[in-house]
Amino acid sequence: MSEPTYTHMFVRADSLLAEYLCHVELLDLTEPRAEQLHALHRDHARGSCLVLAATDRQSP
Ligand SMILES: [Zn+2]
Repeated sequence: MSEPTYTHMFVRADSLLAEYLCHVELLDLTEPRAEQLHALHRDHARGSCLVLAATDRQSP
């Protein structure tokens, strides 16, 4: 299989880890929290920041 070698950690969306780590999957993500996290990760590269990608689709 051609899966990337890095592993995805699952973290709660309201935890500090979600603010500092990019290769994480967000659990229990709410819309207000998605906006916060999106703002914190907004300068990251779209292709390499999972948090940015995950919070992006929440926006209209
Ligand atoms: Zn990021």
